[in-house]
Order: sequence, then C-alpha cells, then structure tokens
Amino acid sequence: MDDKQLNAMTAATSDTTGPATGTASTWNVLTFDVEEWFHAANLRVPRGQWGEFPSRLGQPVEEILSLLEQHARQATFFVLGWVAQRRPDIVRRIAAAGHEIASHGYWHTPVTKQTREEFRQDVKGCKAVLEDITGHPIVGYRAPGYSVNSDNEWALDELKELGFLYDSSIYPARAPHGRYGAAGTPLTPYRIRRGLWEFPLPTWEVMKVRLPAATGGYLRLCPLAVTERALKQNIRRNIPVVVNIHPWELDPVQPRWPAPWWNRALHYTNLHTTKHKLSALLRAYRFTTVRNLLDKCHQHDAVLLREAELPTTQIGPTPITERPKKAKEEETRAGTA
Ligand SMILES: [Zn+2]
Repeated sequence: MDDKQLNAMTAATSDTTGPATGTASTWNVLTFDVEEWFHAANLRVPRGQWGEFPSRLGQPVEEILSLLEQHARQATFFVLGWVAQRRPDIVRRIAAAGHEIASHGYWHTPVTKQTREEFRQDVKGCKAVLEDITGHPIVGYRAPGYSVNSDNEWALDELKELGFLYDSSIYPARAPHGRYGAAGTPLTPYRIRRGLWEFPLPTWEVMKVRLPAATGGYLRLCPLAVTERALKQNIRRNIPVVVNIHPWELDPVQPRWPAPWWNRALHYTNLHTTKHKLSALLRAYRFTTVRNLLDKCHQHDAVLLREAELPTTQIGPTPITERPKKAKEEETRAGTA
C-alpha cells in the first residue's frame, strides 16, 4: 500500500474512539510491550534470577490505563507470556478496559537467537496462555527487540500458520547500536504475507538518514519536541506512527541493576519523563489499536482485491527461485557468453 492509498483509506473511515484533538487526519497506533524491568535487553538479567524479583507492573499499568481513559483512547498491549502466567490479573484488567491484548512471545528471546522450532514453541506457548486468560483469539505479535529481519523471514510464515493476522516487529531503519533494523523495507502498513500484515515501527528522516523514532529509549531519551518533529514528518507523509512504550519506563524508582554503564544509561535515563510525554502525545495526536487500523487496511484491501490479487512482500532481496523468468534467462545468457 502506498502513502496516498493509506491516506485515502484513513481519511475516508470514521472510528469509534472519537475525533482528533490534534492536527493530524492520520490515525496512529499506541502500543505497550508489557514486560518487567528485569526483562529489558539492556540490563541482561539472567533468566534464572527473574523469579527472585517482585512484580512492579501493577502501578505503571494503572497509570497508563488511567491516561488512556482520560483521553478516551484505545491501545494494543503486547504481553510477555512469562508475565501473563504470573500476573493474569493485569492481563484481565487491560482487556476489561477495552484494549487489545497481543503477544510479545513467552521468554523474551530475540528471534535472531532462536531456531525456527524454538520460535514456534515460544510463540505458541504465549498465545495459549493469553487466550486462556482472555478467552479471545490473539492475532497480533511483536518480537522482543524488534528482531524480525531478512535473515529470519520464516518467523512470518510461522506466525501465519499459528493464526496471527499481523506482526509489528520490523524496524525499517538500522538502530544505532546495530541490534535490529531492516533498512529499505516499507514505512506504511503492508501485506507481508497472504493473510498477514506488517505494521512497521516509526522512523524519522534527517538529512537523508533514516533513524528510529518514538519507541522506548528514543521517546524517553529525546526531548518531546524531537519526537514531535518525527511524528509530524510521518503524519505529513500520511504514514501512521506506531508508538511503543514499556510500562517499566513509567517506573522511575525501579531497582538499579549493575549492568555495564552504557546499558544502564540507556535503561534508566529520563524514566521520570515518560508519563508526561505519553500524556502530551495523547493530548495532541489520534491513536487507536493495531487491530482497528488492521480493520481499515482490510477494508481498503477488499476494494483493491476486486481488481486483482495483491502481491505479498519479501523483507530482503527477491529469492533467486522467485525472480522473474526474463531476468534469469538474461543471467544464463550472460553466463554462457
Ligand atoms: Zn520486550
């Protein structure tokens, strides 16, 4: 889907969450990755020690729900299976407030560190726990550390087979620390497989360089004015922005873990600013759930499908086996000349 098509779609569709209070006509998406502070990749707390820490999610989740209610907005919560199993009350509380529950996997292991079978079992386990708690099908997935890229596209096939309708794990820009990013992939929601949509994370183009923006550390470390410039650039281009925050980012008095100083700086800096920034964004921009935006995409897709079947999208270069016949013939001729 290109920018013009999406703009036409979002402009033409009304939504149940109310009119915009800001400047944009584009619908953005607000998401939360629900994990404890000790799950965060920067702290590197060994899995064997997770059980020693008390849960601290209750208060930040309540603060988030209260802000969402105040601004009459819905959001998508990607819940870690490990958390859901220990705090089903939190999952029920979020769902009862009318928000979407989606999956963040079970063990918070990046896809880049799993085999295909390990990934399948991890995602399947989390889906089962969440469906058991909510009584509803779980159709959305976000990988820990946005770790879906051109080296593990099989993850998308597994998600589709397991009944997911969308993924929101691909960052179309290289992260400065190099841990994730699939540069050159689309910026707007798109059909990445038949029956599976991708909702990419937001970027900001500065002097022809594409940077990640408005998620986790970028939102927390940058002044609000910088995040707003990134948002406005996307909105001007009719690109829905997928904002992402962790509840632990609203917990400034969380325990301090002795990680390397740089990781501690990334994790603990500006925790006291997140709530204020979230509140300001909710005041100024229109947000909804990924599921609601997916429904709009489906409506638009249905119109296009009357004309012709849409192609699906590969993250990386087109595999040799699927390249157009003509290109292959030309290569063969060149090779034998
Ligand atoms: Zn996470």
